[in-house]
Amino acid sequence: MSDMRDSIDAYVERWIKPSVRKQKAYSIEPSDGLIKLDTMENPFLWPEKLQEDWAARLKTASLNRYPDPDANELTEDFTNRYGLNDDTSVLFGNGSDEIIQLIATAVAQPGKKLMSPEPSFSMFRQVAQFQGLEFISVPLDENFELDLELTLNKIEREDPAVIFLAQPNNPTGNLWGREKLRRIIEAAQGLVVIDEAYTAFTDADFLSWVEELPNLLVMRTLSKIGLAGIRLGVLFGHKAWLEQINKVRLPYNINVLTQMTAKFALDNVGFLQDQTQELVRQRETLFQKLSEFSVLRLYPSQANFILVRCESGKGPALHSALKSRGILVKNLNDAHSSLQDCLRINVSSSSENAAMLTALNAVLTEDLSD
Ligand SMILES: *Cc1c(COP(=O)(O)O)cnc(C)c1O
Repeated sequence: MSDMRDSIDAYVERWIKPSVRKQKAYSIEPSDGLIKLDTMENPFLWPEKLQEDWAARLKTASLNRYPDPDANELTEDFTNRYGLNDDTSVLFGNGSDEIIQLIATAVAQPGKKLMSPEPSFSMFRQVAQFQGLEFISVPLDENFELDLELTLNKIEREDPAVIFLAQPNNPTGNLWGREKLRRIIEAAQGLVVIDEAYTAFTDADFLSWVEELPNLLVMRTLSKIGLAGIRLGVLFGHKAWLEQINKVRLPYNINVLTQMTAKFALDNVGFLQDQTQELVRQRETLFQKLSEFSVLRLYPSQANFILVRCESGKGPALHSALKSRGILVKNLNDAHSSLQDCLRINVSSSSENAAMLTALNAVLTEDLSD
């Protein structure tokens, strides 16, 4: 056995590229039996009647056939839903994660660069590294605001092929303001992608800009509004851009069940909108309650999570103490140097939020008090 292992290790060393060998696989903490507040899922179930209608619809799926390679029905649905003009369309990915990869694949050439502020969504950096793009990081300031001068300077110096801007930003939850975004898009010589994964939880909306700014694409996803399981990301942009990016998409990336389920959910989208509105209300209540813990620093959020920083050196202990009380939140202590002692907590149903607050109160007043 160990000869076999040694032998494979030698192959790996020789043939797997260094940028892959040195990376860790993306991993998610096991959550069995825990209240899951770590990955921004919608906690609510579907009304029973809808669930039955959906199951009846799925029964008609032709599982022996390949899916529609271009997801035409969904494309039409999105085009109409958002009133896109004739030059603008959508391209679907197996989650917006895949879309980030498609864009990077389309622009990757030796010496080219992918830029993003940090801390932000970790996939931007990961994908850049896989594709052999140099990753250019622009540090956010101590309040996680975007430093416009610094960003514009870096754009001029580095000339990135693509810039990713998550709005609201993950994991900080904030918006950077229309004026700054506009200046960045206009200064960039390359493509800019605004990642609106949390659009359902904010009034900020940059979709209309794709019809006037030639280097802008906007990305959304169904994951955060309640369909994380089906994996459907959406890229909005001018057809001339989508035509190029579509060439690096593998055929049939959106499976039959996802296409059917997304269509069904969008035809009945009212219940998902009600659920997200409830989460927006819960966010305000939760923020208020969390602010009563004087040892926590909170960052205002326009998304379905709240970033909190606890006392110096105590972040990881707080994370594990909550976990041992049945609450799983995201430990960001090692995610970026500016996130030391930070936890990211999903906004959930009132009962799950209450359970989290009870555990937090117990931990802060008992377990960590000395
Ligand atoms: C969650 C998240 C995504 C990933 O969305 P999927 O469609 O589930 O792949 C993309 N961008 C940001 C900023 C996110 O937080």
